[in-house]
Amino acid sequence: MGAFDEVLAKVSCPACGAQHDRGFQTKLFEPDYDERPGGTFEIGGAPIRAHLSVEHFEKRAGREGWDDDWIALAPWQRGTPLVALLEDQSFYCSCAAFVVPELRFDLRADSDYADVCLVGIGAELLSREDALVGVHFSELIPPGLVPLSKHAQWSTALKDGTPEERRRILAAAYREHAFLPLVSTPRTPSPGGSDFLSAPMRCRACGDRRTRFCHTSLFQDPEAPSYAESVAGEEILVPIPPGSTRLYHAKRPVVLGERFGVLEASHPWFCACGAGPILPLLWFVAGRGSATIIEMEALDRLDDETLARVHFVHVEHVSPLRRGTP
Ligand SMILES: [Zn+2]
Ligand SMILES: [Zn+2]
Repeated sequence: MGAFDEVLAKVSCPACGAQHDRGFQTKLFEPDYDERPGGTFEIGGAPIRAHLSVEHFEKRAGREGWDDDWIALAPWQRGTPLVALLEDQSFYCSCAAFVVPELRFDLRADSDYADVCLVGIGAELLSREDALVGVHFSELIPPGLVPLSKHAQWSTALKDGTPEERRRILAAAYREHAFLPLVSTPRTPSPGGSDFLSAPMRCRACGDRRTRFCHTSLFQDPEAPSYAESVAGEEILVPIPPGSTRLYHAKRPVVLGERFGVLEASHPWFCACGAGPILPLLWFVAGRGSATIIEMEALDRLDDETLARVHFVHVEHVSPLRRGTP
């Protein structure tokens, strides 16, 4: 049966250089027509036969998309890379940048259908005015993310407008989307939630220091989840657990008025220096029924010295040998 094509890629955040291991799906080459099974694109991988011809892309680029999924944004000539923006696969970096993958494909015509190779992976910030320059096709914004419905004239212009008009309309819509605040209040509490924190984070390997975002579930009461959101220096009213919880192992007692460290679960991103996958170490000051996030460290490995300093360790990092006595 047909399926999506997969893309396995390391995507670099254009804002901070962090590397993200990502897997995408795309129907750019229409794998489910004729029930062609989906393939996996990787740089240096074998070519994948599209259902569409090279002529198809030449004809459509700069004029019209197809299936209402793809917006044609610029003319394309065979022999040059075809650039596609996978808007619906965009994601937030830990630095809060809204990153959208940009894929470059090489199309060969040895038959009626194009043989396609992935030759490059980039990333754009949709907040940038020129994010769509050099892009031949972009996926239409998934409904609901951007209030396109409020702009009925956009739909017509996206279909009938010139490539410049389409780029202008999409860029405006994307910027509106990209500027949705990452920290927003209030949220609806629900079981299994986590608190959302923002503070300066320093990479222990290279010293890079910048504001990043992180989640913690340490303070979550499954019966009464709170979804607190906090930026550095802001106190949140949360219970500090007196001992180990379902998700965190308590190593040392927390002292009122002093700092305490929480080693979080690892995250599938790497610092621009290559360190990673990053283990975030969160530092709070303990209050009476409250905690204040102060700073965070990005670790790429665990050593005994670190384990000796922290108060709570996410169970992901606790081996039976290291558990010790709380
Ligand atoms: Zn970033
Ligand atoms: Zn680093």
